[in-house]
Amino acid sequence: MSIRKIDFSPPDITNAEINEVIDALKSGWITTGPKTKLFEKNISDYCNSSKTVCLNSATACLELILRLFDIKKGDEVITTPYTFASTANVIIHVGAKPVFVDVKKESFNIDPQAIKKALSKKTKAVIPVDIAGWPCDYDEIKEVLDNFKFYHPDRKTKQALLDRPLIVADSAHSFGAEYKGKKLGTIADFTCFSFHAVKNLTTAEGGAVTFNGYKNYSSDEIYNDLMKLSLHGQSKDAYAKMKTGGWKYDIKCAGFKYNMTDIASSVGLAQLRRYDQMLNIRERLFNCYNEKLNFDNFILPPFNDKNKKNSFHLYPLRIKNFNEENRNKLIEKLANAGISTNVHFIPVVMHSFYKKLGYSIKYFPNCYEMYKNEITLPLYSKLTLNDINYISDNLIKIFKK
Ligand SMILES: *Cc1c(COP(=O)(O)O)cnc(C)c1O
Repeated sequence: MSIRKIDFSPPDITNAEINEVIDALKSGWITTGPKTKLFEKNISDYCNSSKTVCLNSATACLELILRLFDIKKGDEVITTPYTFASTANVIIHVGAKPVFVDVKKESFNIDPQAIKKALSKKTKAVIPVDIAGWPCDYDEIKEVLDNFKFYHPDRKTKQALLDRPLIVADSAHSFGAEYKGKKLGTIADFTCFSFHAVKNLTTAEGGAVTFNGYKNYSSDEIYNDLMKLSLHGQSKDAYAKMKTGGWKYDIKCAGFKYNMTDIASSVGLAQLRRYDQMLNIRERLFNCYNEKLNFDNFILPPFNDKNKKNSFHLYPLRIKNFNEENRNKLIEKLANAGISTNVHFIPVVMHSFYKKLGYSIKYFPNCYEMYKNEITLPLYSKLTLNDINYISDNLIKIFKK
């Protein structure tokens, strides 16, 4: 076999994206404006949510939702160690304490029963993560929180409007995935998607949060509050201020600077139009891996079942009886054959910053079992069936040696 070069996750950019960007550049308006408002509307239509707010990252979306509900020092937010640092870092940023709970046995996703055990009167939110694009067990998570009697909201804040801790989904991987027949976007209270360069749908950097709102806190009010929080607390955005005679504004709070530009949104508009087609390609390639790698030694990732539809963001393969060292060697050998792979994820509690805070992987045995023998194979819409054959054949050959 001659050696080929297979990247891990290059963006899928066509003339459609290029032309949208040119259109934005020529329009005379390049920061947050009409393209971003249209992108938000199109995402709401796609996810069936009342509203969408686009920001410059999924991290910004997660952080602003915690801030919107005034989650702060003294509060606890429950999440999983099996995720990217972003999920936990935002909890630290607002001053709250991350309370990690294990994933379900033989699953990459958070265990609802472990959430139940970790609830305390300080619990203000739960952040489940749809690893690789596979939705979490949202109904079980909701049931656990609905039955939780020890909730002590801060009555002076928006928390007073809630009757249980918030569910803020880290759906960075799962745009377009489905749970019980519905697209993600309205299953959790707030759903945060990432449009980072390696994600299924990209704007280079970017993110969106979708929501339906509450009876006593409408989606329009939430939208306006998030706009203020994301742009220095201004009562008007730059586009409204630019309108003739629209110079006057007020600062309502010390907000942040997290808005999405119209240049980024223009990439997103074109990506969203192509999204179902890109998702179909991902599904076909994922299925092809499943067929090629259907051996006893391999533990394949979940495909689709009666309750859940994957968004096929990653192909996280696990290898029976492998430890970290075997796995790391396999990554090296595949790299020698020109194949880039990855590990999703190094559990957050194994990083030095979190170890210094006193967290340890020894309390998360299911998480470690998933991590130690996991290798993520390339999966993206520009990959071909030939590439899948090359990757699978090399993997099997190296594994047999
Ligand atoms: C990529 C990613 C994020 C962060 O997304 P950004 O848009 O880069 O902020 C958060 N969580 C997970 C699980 C991710 O993979």
